[in-house]
Amino acid sequence: MGKSVLIVGAGIGGLAIALRLAKRGYKVRILEKNKQAGGRINQLKTDGFIFDTGPSFFSMSYEFTEFAQDCNIRLPFSYYALDPLYAVNFIGNPKTFLLNKDISKLALQFNDIEPDFENKMRRYLDKSKNLFHDTIDIVIKNNYNSVVDYLLTLLKVNPGHLPVLFRSFYGQVSRYFSSDEARQIISLVSFFLGRSPFETVAVYSLLSYAEFQHDGYYNVEGGMYKIVEGLLDELKKENAILTYNTEIVDFNATGKKLSYLIDQNRQKWEADIVVINADAAWFRGSIFKRKEYSEEKLDRMEWTMGSLTLYLGLKCKLPQVYHHNYFLGNNYRDYSNAVFKNPNALQKPYFYVNVLSKHNPGCAPEGCESLFFVCPVPDLRYKPDWSDSDQVVDTIIDDFSARIKKDIRPEIISKTIYTPVDWQHQFNLHRGSGLGLSHKMLQIGGFRPKNYDEHFKNVFYVGASTVPGTGLPMAMISSKLAFQRIEQYAAES
Ligand SMILES: Cc1cc2nc3c(=O)[nH]c(=O)nc-3n(C[C@H](O)[C@H](O)[C@H](O)COP(=O)(O)OP(=O)(O)OC[C@H]3O[C@@H](n4cnc5c(N)ncnc54)[C@H](O)[C@@H]3O)c2cc1C
Repeated sequence: MGKSVLIVGAGIGGLAIALRLAKRGYKVRILEKNKQAGGRINQLKTDGFIFDTGPSFFSMSYEFTEFAQDCNIRLPFSYYALDPLYAVNFIGNPKTFLLNKDISKLALQFNDIEPDFENKMRRYLDKSKNLFHDTIDIVIKNNYNSVVDYLLTLLKVNPGHLPVLFRSFYGQVSRYFSSDEARQIISLVSFFLGRSPFETVAVYSLLSYAEFQHDGYYNVEGGMYKIVEGLLDELKKENAILTYNTEIVDFNATGKKLSYLIDQNRQKWEADIVVINADAAWFRGSIFKRKEYSEEKLDRMEWTMGSLTLYLGLKCKLPQVYHHNYFLGNNYRDYSNAVFKNPNALQKPYFYVNVLSKHNPGCAPEGCESLFFVCPVPDLRYKPDWSDSDQVVDTIIDDFSARIKKDIRPEIISKTIYTPVDWQHQFNLHRGSGLGLSHKMLQIGGFRPKNYDEHFKNVFYVGASTVPGTGLPMAMISSKLAFQRIEQYAAES
């Protein structure tokens, strides 16, 4: 029998590494604080509706197929490409922009506002493509043993890209496009990283190539939670054990070895190897009591936006609404700069709407629609009190109704709200930050919380909070990087 492994957290990172390890003969047990697996990729079943509560699409589908190959399984869920990628609407503008992957088709929508859009977009995407291919394999899919190691790797990147380090994402887009609409629509993707396009460094404009040309976006048949269910099925076949409602609150160590973890009932859990899927910065501070990650130090780090999410069940259909939609206002720069810290920005919130039932009829009763709203909001450092969440949500519902020209209020038969307080409480996310530590230059690569522990030789980290970063494909890559560390440790110990 192989070595025993305890994994703290059944998020996508925890489940993915569990399967990699189980397939290699390790004896795997996962401890999860909640009553069901998935972490942020989760599901809410209520009033006859089914809602995906977090991610609603993914990019870099090949990371999932590569994972399945590594584990020698058929991918346990089916996915399909999105085209249009999403729809964008500006307040006061009746036009809906459809983000087609076919650039000639996309250009038709900008005819009247951005002359020569097609050529501009192709030039912009060429640069974005070079950035993507010159960085992703060299920098992203690598383990680093030190900051020096990381910096030496950065030196291998084509120096022609240096100027993008001194420009914002929005600045980069503005070099190619002159209309506000094109600039805003194309820089919007930086919000997917949980940051403002005015703060995000232009190197991330590689995401435009990722969304429009390289691989695009995907939805999962039957809803995103099928990913979790599929992984759970595979883990069951490998006899991995999942223990729910078990939150790790303490630990015991002897020298450089973690001896055991302690849960909320003071039960002890021990194994040869421990993998933390809970937030790597938060866990080091709150559980391992590391000074470098004290609450004060964490507060001084840069976190992504908080998430206010709303799950609505309607007793009508909304044929006029696309599957994925962004509803923007008319003050993009001011809003982007304010929304991370200033609660007043929520008087006129921007928001995203996903209609899960559009392609997954099983997610809503006959003739009904299941809607998921995400609104970027300040994290709990800047807005600790969410007693006004109903008011904020009412503003969103009114705005949405006005834009789609249908009052949805009388149609609502199910309504659930998660504020940053809920996101923090459910998954131990620091200050309710939905995507965790931001991707500013000093918080990525060799500067991000490492995937091996600084003190305990038998402890490793996996998921979006360690390398390489946030989002589902990155969490999959993270499972490979952490797996390599563990294999090396197991071979040496
Ligand atoms: C609203 C929202 C929308 C998003 N949309 C997208 C999207 O469309 N596409 C995309 O790719 N990404 C999206 N993301 C990001 C994506 O969800 C995350 O990057 C990814 O799911 C993180 O996975 P993880 O395994 O690293 O962490 P988590 O999912 O946070 O998993 C960690 C697990 O550890 C558990 N845990 C924590 N502390 C303890 C403890 N002490 N003891 C035991 N268990 C513990 C938690 O309960 C949790 O289950 C979105 C995120 C949010 C919040």
